[in-house]
Amino acid sequence: MQSIKADVIIIGTGVGGSAVAHQLAGSGARILMLERGDFLANEPQNSDAESVFAQARYKTTDLWQDPAGRTYRPGQYYYVGGHTKFYGTAMFRFRESDFNETEMDHAASPAWPVSYADLEPYYAAAENLYGVRGDQGTDPTEPPRSAPFPHPAIPHEPVIKTLSGRLRDLGLTPFPMPAAVDYGEGGNCRRCGTCDAFACRFDAKGDADVRIMRPLLDHPDIRLERNAKVTRLIADRDGRRIVAAEILRDGETLRAEAPLFVLSAGAINSALILLRSACEPMPDGLANSSGVVGRYLMNHHLTGLMGVNPLAVNDTKFPKTLSVNDFYHGLPGDPDARGNMQMLGNIQGAMIRATYPAMPRLAANWLARHSVDVLAMSEDLPDACSRVRMLAGDRVEVDYRPGGTAAHDRFVTHLRRVLRRAGFPLVLRHGFGIEAPSHQCGTVRMGDDPASSALDSLCRAHDHPNLHVVDAGFFPSSAALNPALTIAAQALRVGAHLRDTHAA
Ligand SMILES: Cc1cc2nc3c(=O)[nH]c(=O)nc-3n(C[C@H](O)[C@H](O)[C@H](O)COP(=O)(O)OP(=O)(O)OC[C@H]3O[C@@H](n4cnc5c(N)ncnc54)[C@H](O)[C@@H]3O)c2cc1C
Repeated sequence: MQSIKADVIIIGTGVGGSAVAHQLAGSGARILMLERGDFLANEPQNSDAESVFAQARYKTTDLWQDPAGRTYRPGQYYYVGGHTKFYGTAMFRFRESDFNETEMDHAASPAWPVSYADLEPYYAAAENLYGVRGDQGTDPTEPPRSAPFPHPAIPHEPVIKTLSGRLRDLGLTPFPMPAAVDYGEGGNCRRCGTCDAFACRFDAKGDADVRIMRPLLDHPDIRLERNAKVTRLIADRDGRRIVAAEILRDGETLRAEAPLFVLSAGAINSALILLRSACEPMPDGLANSSGVVGRYLMNHHLTGLMGVNPLAVNDTKFPKTLSVNDFYHGLPGDPDARGNMQMLGNIQGAMIRATYPAMPRLAANWLARHSVDVLAMSEDLPDACSRVRMLAGDRVEVDYRPGGTAAHDRFVTHLRRVLRRAGFPLVLRHGFGIEAPSHQCGTVRMGDDPASSALDSLCRAHDHPNLHVVDAGFFPSSAALNPALTIAAQALRVGAHLRDTHAA
């Protein structure tokens, strides 16, 4: 069997893996990055809603199943840059309180072993890396910042500006949403109308491929192996140290060896790799003496709200310029009903029909043209029974149990009322489920106690001194804001630690 040797092996080139590599580049360590996907082809279909949604051209063809045995193709995207190739560019910092223990409808959201202050310098570095645009001091719940945003906010288009004004008239404080788009003079963004859930043909989206991986590949110490799917990690005889990764490429099995491993395959896949790596001294899987690996799967409560006004036309190309955090810490009189409101990307008829195929094309196009589209996001509380696991025959079961659903429903009811008062007489709703695990997290949780967590505060496995798991899997709780910037910040923090302690 062919064996590749390196000083550090990083599995996955998404937000987590790329940020660790960014910190280690230039340290003298030879870094091998193993990515199961390839570079995403730049082609006209990237921005064609029919190809992306109806034909699901870019989604994995892998099948997962629910506890009833029903199989489906999950919204998983395996490319250099990971899920950020398709993400919506919303780049929020979590709030200080998100790192503390809180309660919602009598259920607990646990504390993180790191604080906002620990992450703040890395949030600033991550915003620079991704080229985030925003206006400091406009978000009423904004945590303390050591520096302003690297670039000014993207201006609203007319319909969004009007919506912002109406929300203000209702006493709210809408603000420009922080977004990682190369917009403005000399920038690549052309406001083409396809961004969130599409790949960008002009490299204007601040994704992990364009902003981090491609510059890294010029570096002599970084080697990227594409189409290299890691199937399992191999531990030494007593199960303590990881010695190799087993890779499947073009039907051939390879092996990669290093003294240090960083697993960043995304929350669900990292957990599955650890579980699949069970061995005699670690019969429940690697990093899993606590039994938490694969458990506490969270995905946010995400509800799309379509505010329809038959008399108005929405021709906005890039709507994701507005957000509302007035209810982040709760509704008046109902502190548990809380979350963030932000614009969805530009919705097209073909996207609606991909979910509701019975809807006539004309009706779907009409709805898309006469609506503003908003995302209501609430914290998903961790539940040990919410889990991913391997079944016989290498089948993957996802038994997702969202926590805090009733509180989210009350939040959504309130937002529908707000939208009606803002001039949209009909407000339709659509809930996004685990088939689209876009905000998946929590499956390899961090914590101070090895009995109830898999990783320490630097994402190092309690069970293995040379294994770090650095992707959304490390989240002990999900907060109610988009996850990418927090993954990046913690990954930069872990990468800095590895550079100082392990690298040559
Ligand atoms: C449509 C969509 C919109 C989104 N919008 C936003 C947004 O606006 N803001 C935000 O903050 N977040 C958003 N997200 C979520 C965000 O993209 C993810 O939280 C983030 O990318 C997760 O980073 P990660 O490093 O945990 O994992 P990933 O990005 O999933 O990276 C994992 C990497 O590992 C690779 N990999 C997987 N398995 C293996 C294996 N066995 N061997 C080798 N390589 C492997 C994958 O191909 C991938 O490159 C969105 C996601 C989607 C899908």
